Amino acid sequence: MNDSRDVIVIGGGISGTSAAYELARRGTPVMLLERGDLHSMASGWSLAGVRQSGRHPAELPLAQAAVRRWEHLAEELESDVEYRQDGNLRLAVTIGDLPTIRRVVDEGNASGIVMEYIDGSDAVRELAPAITPTVAGASFCPTDGHANNCLTVQALARAAQRHGAEIRTGIEVTSLRVDGDRITGVETADGAISAGTVVLAAGIYTPRLLAPLNLDLPLDIVLCPVVQTDVMEPMLKPVLGVSDGSFAGRQEASGRFRLTGESHPWREARHTRANTTPSMGQVQAMIAGALDVLPVLADMRINRIWGGLIDRTPDVIPVIEKIPHYDGLVVAAGFSGHGFCLGPVTGEILADLAITGTTHHPIDAFTLARFAAGVARKELQLHG
Ligand SMILES: Cc1cc2nc3c(=O)[nH]c(=O)nc-3n(C[C@H](O)[C@H](O)[C@H](O)COP(=O)(O)OP(=O)(O)OC[C@H]3O[C@@H](n4cnc5c(N)ncnc54)[C@H](O)[C@@H]3O)c2cc1C
Repeated sequence: MNDSRDVIVIGGGISGTSAAYELARRGTPVMLLERGDLHSMASGWSLAGVRQSGRHPAELPLAQAAVRRWEHLAEELESDVEYRQDGNLRLAVTIGDLPTIRRVVDEGNASGIVMEYIDGSDAVRELAPAITPTVAGASFCPTDGHANNCLTVQALARAAQRHGAEIRTGIEVTSLRVDGDRITGVETADGAISAGTVVLAAGIYTPRLLAPLNLDLPLDIVLCPVVQTDVMEPMLKPVLGVSDGSFAGRQEASGRFRLTGESHPWREARHTRANTTPSMGQVQAMIAGALDVLPVLADMRINRIWGGLIDRTPDVIPVIEKIPHYDGLVVAAGFSGHGFCLGPVTGEILADLAITGTTHHPIDAFTLARFAAGVARKELQLHG
């Protein structure tokens, strides 16, 4: 391969396909390179909640802008992405959890999202009758929701292609090509491809492409067990989570439940199917947490179990930036378990940065340099 493009996007998850779509529809010649298949990593493993509630304040404007895009995304992409704006219920499993839930509601309302505090199990079960009658209360954000992660990535990729983008799967980028302080393209196993700008959205593999440039993106990779059930009749509309983040789940448009549990440290060099399959103990704990909340699932058959790797930064917010030290390098990674919702806006920002170097979206909090300066570590508490 000896090729040339204005922009190369590395990564066929939601961030990369969304960037390719935004670039292509603005008339920029773009090629996306994906080492496996589209959505073969986090974007395929995801719970795929589309959530503003419980967001870090720096991410909230992006999540709100993303929800405005989600509301029309299917129409825009001419594909059903199974987006459902049926809300997010964050449960207080015990009375002791109620103060945490109250805080999530107060913070949400103070920052401009409409959220309700729901006291007592009867009121919670009016919104979701399948939930255990022992639940103490919940927060409810009616404008949150969920979508089909794989259909969304495929729809973005197809829309990008309709606008002229080239999408190549099964091609691994082995390094970035650099000339002084300019990025000039990428090396792949099949040869070099030159480009004026490279958009790097390679999920957990982003740090290894940055390291030869002396750019350090510190990621703690964690594995989150996921169980998907057989098809059940419709019984749950909102996405569910619990106040300590140890369980989140939803019923897909297909009728299957997709359930996630607590995350565990993962320190392998490369992912394989074997080393991302959760252990019996991790699955047992995940299922116990799910049944505490949704006892109705006890007789349900399991369709599939997998582990999803999460690219967690020390402060659990991403890097989205045109890297100042190098001309022609734009990075989006470290979404810390909540980058699916942001996808449509991440693509907009990446295209803005690749084409003009700036964006109207507020991204000052998402620089790479903040890690070298030292950031306060935070625990990831809410997902879904
Ligand atoms: C279990 C789980 C539950 C989640 N739940 C939610 C949720 O409810 N809501 C939410 O908003 N987010 C959620 N997330 C997070 C969300 O899924 C991710 O933040 C998002 O999908 C990240 O997308 P991405 O495109 O940045 O990365 P990825 O989807 O990981 O895509 C990166 C792509 O780059 C490719 N790649 C890597 N290296 C190379 C290379 N050298 N050359 C070529 N290609 C390469 C990979 O194969 C991969 O396809 C969850 C994640 C998991 C794992």
